[in-house]
Amino acid sequence: MAIKVAFHNLGCKVNSYETEAMLAGLKKRGFVEVPFEEGADVYVINTCTVTNIADRKSRQMLHRAKAMDPDAAVVAVGCYAQAAGESLLADEAVDIVVGNDRKHELPDLIEAWFESHEKQSALDDIGKSRRFEEMPAECSEHTRAFLKIEDGCNQFCAYCLIPYVRGRVRSRDPEDVLEEARRLAEKGWSEIVLTGIHISSYGLDFEGDAGMRAAGYGAPLIALLRRLDEIPGIRRIRLGSLEPRLITPENAAALASLRTLCPHFHLSLQSGCDETLRRMNRKYTAAEFAEKVRLLREAFDRPALTTDVIVGFPGETEEEFAATVAFLEEIRFAQTHVFRYSRRKGTVADRMPDQIPEPVKAERSAVLLDLNRKNRLAYAKQFIGERREVLLETAEEGADSPVWTGYTPEYLRLKVPVNGMPGQYVSVMVKEENLLLTEE
Ligand code: SF4
Repeated sequence: MAIKVAFHNLGCKVNSYETEAMLAGLKKRGFVEVPFEEGADVYVINTCTVTNIADRKSRQMLHRAKAMDPDAAVVAVGCYAQAAGESLLADEAVDIVVGNDRKHELPDLIEAWFESHEKQSALDDIGKSRRFEEMPAECSEHTRAFLKIEDGCNQFCAYCLIPYVRGRVRSRDPEDVLEEARRLAEKGWSEIVLTGIHISSYGLDFEGDAGMRAAGYGAPLIALLRRLDEIPGIRRIRLGSLEPRLITPENAAALASLRTLCPHFHLSLQSGCDETLRRMNRKYTAAEFAEKVRLLREAFDRPALTTDVIVGFPGETEEEFAATVAFLEEIRFAQTHVFRYSRRKGTVADRMPDQIPEPVKAERSAVLLDLNRKNRLAYAKQFIGERREVLLETAEEGADSPVWTGYTPEYLRLKVPVNGMPGQYVSVMVKEENLLLTEE
């Protein structure tokens, strides 16, 4: 009888993609997917370690799975499994531990466990891994599909553990990316989001002329985008978070020449204060960042520029925070994701003096959230009275006549009263009453 497997995913879009990829690999071997509830033979938890809370959630899910069925195999896979390592095997709730870069071995490991009922592990020193783990998937959300092109990060920001659990930059072979993109297009996905841990570094590890070292920062990513641009059926491409350094005059012009690329860029700022950025080990100044914004605004018509900011980073004084506020007021991002700094064991920032009390972080977060609401509204309002192409995603249930929601290329979310279907493009006049600003 087929082995029944249930998945629970924690963490980011890259994890979601990898969950789909593992599932695809298991199905190919004859495993059957079942809901994450009592009755599965194997429970796979794709874990996350981005914060101490993520660690706790990962452990809780592993224990919940074992409690549901003590005879089932419980698998810890992904970032928390990589960080906790072999020590996780001492946990009675866990039967199999799989680190990043060994996920493709999951079917073999599960079968080995069923044969022997002995604990299994597949963990490497991820820092030494140099090859992209090829695991095709179809990871989709409404009408857009995610496509992983890269893994790992070489940046070592002071607050982030990711380089330690994801390893160095490993880029996916362009031919494999294109093959997956063509397959997605054939199946009807017309919007693709390129994801990875640090996609700006795509191609850093390629040898020869096509590699980033020879061709320049961002060149392999742009070369890939040019080839994706030629695939019939793909109408929109969005990019995951970009490194400001990638935006040079040449790269901005090259990006603007693409047919499919949406005018929607996420550039992580983290702070608008040079001194805080230096402590964070971010490798730009506020003025350099502002110049990248200027280049994008020159190359694109009112692009949606979104960002992340951390408040309450160790040592952040009132003056430093005020510099961030002033910078956000100057740049007027279309959307700012505000994070309160959260200590992460094993990082440089965790050992820094002058940790900021939680109430101060909460106050600073409230200030930025308020500013975000204003900036977001101001950005969206510029389009009132103009027609925009909306990709329909979901229809409101129970309404007499259908009301759809969907996104413009700038990622403005609009309500559209139309008889449509998911995946259809419609031209919509932007009005104050059809703008949806409450959700992402
Ligand atoms: S760029 Fe910085 S924040 Fe992003 S994954 Fe790398 S180390 Fe972490």
